[in-house]
Amino acid sequence: MAAQTFPFQIGSIDACVLNDGEFQYDQPADLFFGHAPSKQSLSMALNQQGIKLSDWDHMDSSFCCLYLKMGRERILIDPGAGKMGANTGQLLSALETQGVKPEDIDTIIITHCHPDHIGGILNEKGELTFPNAKYIMWKAEWDFWTHEPDLSHQPIPADMQAAMISSAQQICEAIREKTELIRREFELRPGMRVISIPGHTPGMIALNISSDGQQFMYLADAVFHPTQIEHPDWSGQVDLDPKKAAASRNQILKRASNSRSQVLCYHFPFPGLGTIENTGGAYHFKAVAAGRRA
Ligand SMILES: [Zn+2]
Repeated sequence: MAAQTFPFQIGSIDACVLNDGEFQYDQPADLFFGHAPSKQSLSMALNQQGIKLSDWDHMDSSFCCLYLKMGRERILIDPGAGKMGANTGQLLSALETQGVKPEDIDTIIITHCHPDHIGGILNEKGELTFPNAKYIMWKAEWDFWTHEPDLSHQPIPADMQAAMISSAQQICEAIREKTELIRREFELRPGMRVISIPGHTPGMIALNISSDGQQFMYLADAVFHPTQIEHPDWSGQVDLDPKKAAASRNQILKRASNSRSQVLCYHFPFPGLGTIENTGGAYHFKAVAAGRRA
């Protein structure tokens, strides 16, 4: 598959969505909507997206990473999954089409330490993919993964839990000396604010970027599927703390809708960009470009 890129502007900031590739998640109803109140309500909601629950045996997800040029600084937000799946790890070829080499990346912002978001930090030899990059992460996220993380109450298979922990620990160790840990919401760069959205993981962050009157939000894994924007209380098995995840999801969607931000959702069909419309008291996702979803 050719590298997919979607260059766009956030005010005067040059931005580009880079697709790290497509990944197939099995049992998406449990993974992403395991805490929906009933099968019937989930079925009705999914129907509106053209999905029949009884046939929904997998979800194809893009991995929508974001590249930003802010002044002289070249920033990546979530550096992709690396070779997690047969079709992932395409971030570097996507960057190359923008004239950017791995050594050009100055800063990598990690929204959270799940393998689909950090796997690209190390290459297949276990070396740092971006040799000159510094990393930024929320301190509670770092602390959780580096201090005997307990995923035992999360209803996902034990081998998946073990893989998540070992990937996070290996990668955190590799970037230990290059990582700045942040512990409060503040303006990280002129026009770029960190927002704490715990729940999916203990220290997940979103980013709000504003420039020349335009508002943009990188939502990370606050939402996985457009139906979750319509039903922000419905967390999934992938959310470590389903209640907190729902509270954070409600909060960030309200903020995105009220500020009329453009948003980027990592797992939505590429390029994952759209707006959160509030019609009749319910939120809806309006994609900037037609996406596809199997
Ligand atoms: Zn993810």
